[in-house]
Amino acid sequence: MIRYQLICDDGHRFDAWFRSSGDCDRQLGAGLAECPHCGSPEISKALMAPSLNAREETVREVVAAPETARPEGVPARDAVVAGEAARELAELRERMRALREDVMAKAEHVGTRFPEEARRIHYGEREAAGIWGEATPDEARSLAEEGIAFAPLPIFPDERN
Ligand SMILES: [Zn+2]
Repeated sequence: MIRYQLICDDGHRFDAWFRSSGDCDRQLGAGLAECPHCGSPEISKALMAPSLNAREETVREVVAAPETARPEGVPARDAVVAGEAARELAELRERMRALREDVMAKAEHVGTRFPEEARRIHYGEREAAGIWGEATPDEARSLAEEGIAFAPLPIFPDERN
């Protein structure tokens, strides 16, 4: 998957993932992508420039619909399991869900202040108690580059919408 910064004819910038550069060109050419802000199908690739304001880049990431990346007439397929394996997987999912709730209950919710609070813990400016919150992909990348330990909370497919 490759990430491109795109821009609509109204000047909205957003990020989108594509399987390849050719896939991106094809989807844009066929008008299959649309601006998540105004719905305009007039999208082009934006010049890649370092962003000065990470928060503005929070813009939603849109994942190109799998339908558009498949040859016509080939139905979408997901990996599935059945039998004993399915039961074990369901149990594991339940345990992870419970574990996540436990972690979130014990940790302090710091919302979008997560990157700065994680830095303060890392640099010994606050107690190393658990915190949880939200970070943009760019913020997460910066934290990782600074060697600050953090982990994504697991999200389950049926919780996305
Ligand atoms: Zn737009």
